[in-house]
Amino acid sequence: MSDSADSGVDPGTDADEAADAGDGGAMQVSSPDYHSENHTAAQTCGWTANAIRGEGKCYKYIYYGIESHRCIQMTPVVRCNERCVFCWRDHQGHTYEMDDVEWDDPEAVVDASIRLQKKLLSGFGGNDEVPREVFDQAMEPRHVAISLDGEPTLYPYLPELIDAFHDRDITTFLVSNGTRPEVLRECDPTQLYVSVDAPERHTFDNVVGATEDDAWEKLLETMAVLAEKDETRTVLRTTLVDGENMHHPDWYAGFYQQADPDFVELKAYMHVGHSQGRLDRSAMPDHEAVVAFAEDVMSYMPEFTECRGVPESRVALLATQKDTWVPKLKKGSEFWERDPVVGD
Ligand code: SF4
Repeated sequence: MSDSADSGVDPGTDADEAADAGDGGAMQVSSPDYHSENHTAAQTCGWTANAIRGEGKCYKYIYYGIESHRCIQMTPVVRCNERCVFCWRDHQGHTYEMDDVEWDDPEAVVDASIRLQKKLLSGFGGNDEVPREVFDQAMEPRHVAISLDGEPTLYPYLPELIDAFHDRDITTFLVSNGTRPEVLRECDPTQLYVSVDAPERHTFDNVVGATEDDAWEKLLETMAVLAEKDETRTVLRTTLVDGENMHHPDWYAGFYQQADPDFVELKAYMHVGHSQGRLDRSAMPDHEAVVAFAEDVMSYMPEFTECRGVPESRVALLATQKDTWVPKLKKGSEFWERDPVVGD
């Protein structure tokens, strides 16, 4: 489940990345856009780079407190079992053959992720416009977004990987397509995202292109798994594609409520990467349309009273309360005690 289209990455346009790809990981990660070690891949999102330059942070800072310059965007698996029409990746690169993968253990994946991040950001060290203390902080990541590409629940030690990041004092945002409820049941990241890109089976089949016949039933099961999560913050995320899945807000509301989520994010499809060959530019809703649709959905979910949009990311957040930050990420918390973040 790729998060990159919303993270400011313009995939496939960075010549330096292309030249430096596949170090030691050609077997699993063939994308020229990533740095990789075996099956672990990382790429700097556009917002991480912006934050290092003092040019703004991603909407997950605004909503939840994620410090973009200290955030690793990675995945332990680039393969995926869905073929979403809006995905910016080349579906060929997602081919789902993993029988002979030699999986690294979770500690090795954490080490690889941190190493890759440091390598990706090392060039900022010589940039006069980047304050030294901001660079130093970026070299010590405190968040990971397990969302770069592929479906992370296909990695066999995902719950242990999340624990391993937490043991290093790194918060975890996990993004999944919901096809492996039995894995998600065991996962307790800081925040668990599941994509809901259709309110019913017919649209799901058209938009998601699942490779497994029971994907819709698994997504339903996943909603029940989320509803049982008391400690883990849960988010349902819908990528809105005009003309494809932007209909029946009442059905979305009904579907969402099965999961009893803490938050719902509705976000515009972005016409980037390989999705351009599948969808017309007009399928990309503008921010006003995203917010209007989100408000329509909210009108059927009485417990949700907040709708907050971030225009640069064409995203709207539905919440049940005004305070939406992860408690441990609030300024002055114990989490930041050992190295408080500089700047706003
Ligand atoms: S959460 Fe992390 S990876 Fe995602 S957009 Fe923000 S800074 Fe980038």
